[in-house]
Amino acid sequence: MARSDDTIFALSSGAGRSGVAVFRLSGARAHIIATAFCGEMDRIGQVYIRPVRDPETCDLIDKGVVFLFAGPASFTGEDMAEIQLHGSLAVIASLSDALSNQGIRPADAGEFTERAFRNGKLDLAQAEALADLIDAETIKQHKQSLGQLGGQLSEVGQRWRQHLIGCLAPLEAAIDFPDEAAIPAQIEARARPVIEQLIAELQIFLDQSRKAQRVRKGVTIVLLGAPNAGKSSLLNWLAKSDIAIVSDTPGTTRDAIECRIELAGVPVTVIDTAGLRGATDDAIEQEGIRRALAKAAKADLRIGMVAADDPGGRDTIGENLHAGDILLWNKNDLKPAAGLAISLKTGAGLADFLVQLEAKVGALCGSGEEPALTRARHVYAVEAASMALNRSLDALQQGPEMAAQDIHIAIQSLGQITGDVGVEDVLGEIFASFCIGK
Ligand code: GDP
Repeated sequence: MARSDDTIFALSSGAGRSGVAVFRLSGARAHIIATAFCGEMDRIGQVYIRPVRDPETCDLIDKGVVFLFAGPASFTGEDMAEIQLHGSLAVIASLSDALSNQGIRPADAGEFTERAFRNGKLDLAQAEALADLIDAETIKQHKQSLGQLGGQLSEVGQRWRQHLIGCLAPLEAAIDFPDEAAIPAQIEARARPVIEQLIAELQIFLDQSRKAQRVRKGVTIVLLGAPNAGKSSLLNWLAKSDIAIVSDTPGTTRDAIECRIELAGVPVTVIDTAGLRGATDDAIEQEGIRRALAKAAKADLRIGMVAADDPGGRDTIGENLHAGDILLWNKNDLKPAAGLAISLKTGAGLADFLVQLEAKVGALCGSGEEPALTRARHVYAVEAASMALNRSLDALQQGPEMAAQDIHIAIQSLGQITGDVGVEDVLGEIFASFCIGK
């Protein structure tokens, strides 16, 4: 068990005034320091209510709750202490200063979790999921991060590796006994279906990964349409507030305005854009239209809006809607329209539209319940493994040595998901994205 002599502390309950502030200490001196502040504690895990005093001045900082964890049965795997005080800014500042004066150091972002990873308390996919759980804002993000934290992706990754390790042993035996002519054919017959099946399974995960990543990162929807179609009114209705200026002066929305809402259990960013007009001399408006189309092209979903009394607005949207996008007819009160029709003035059709919108967003995302490649890092690892396995299928005909080499590469690549191998250079980046105190 790696034990660090460098003891760290952090306010883990988040900055600012709060009912209770939670300080965590981790490292070889955590218990000694906690004892210096709170007095002798002879039982691990026992909750003590104690005066907390600055050991240097004996000044009372607060009365608080304190308890000790002994490594390796702690979150970081090291000795830890937790001190809970009243969450006033003055109390927090006093304890932080007094802890620093004892020669222990404020933790870097994610440092507790990085220590937990290095001490084998959780793997890299689980560490990432912990960051996702802390960042989770919606129901599906909550489910997805809890599942990954529980190890569901890690288990799949380990199973894949075990299959490949099972394939390797006979191949490596064949390398050692090259004279046994019968071995390669038998081995190929055993290895090939396992590898083929694994390639197919990896492909399913790759195919689903965009949907899974949308749960984690959210979905972007762009509103497109002619000026006065009602895009700003729709944005305000979705946001349930007056974010965008609604005006009957065409061209009021020159640049994109965004709001963030929750639909189908995922975060959704809705972007209102400059109205589309075929011909305009106004350079600012032209730039607005260029940006609108660029944002629409990158979005996960587009809503093309047409005012029922201005059906020519459909032409300005033109080919910028993709298959599966929504064409929405507004101002149904002025003129009835065929298709999905609403009136933002009277509210007609809005409930049905919302049901359809939620269904579309839901279809763009995974359920958040199944194990999934939730990060680009996982996708790269699986793509690399899949490429190596495809090469190994060709190599099987040439001989066991080449095939074994490619299977080794696939095992290594899959090991990156859980951080078993080859991740040292990305660890800094991963843990730096955590908050302080986690
Ligand atoms: P945008 O230019 O596409 O963002 O459109 P706005 O949301 O600014 O709306 C343009 C004008 O149409 C405003 O005067 C709105 O009040 C009006 N408007 C929006 N929706 C409706 C509707 O359903 N019916 C009617 N009659 N007017 C609407």
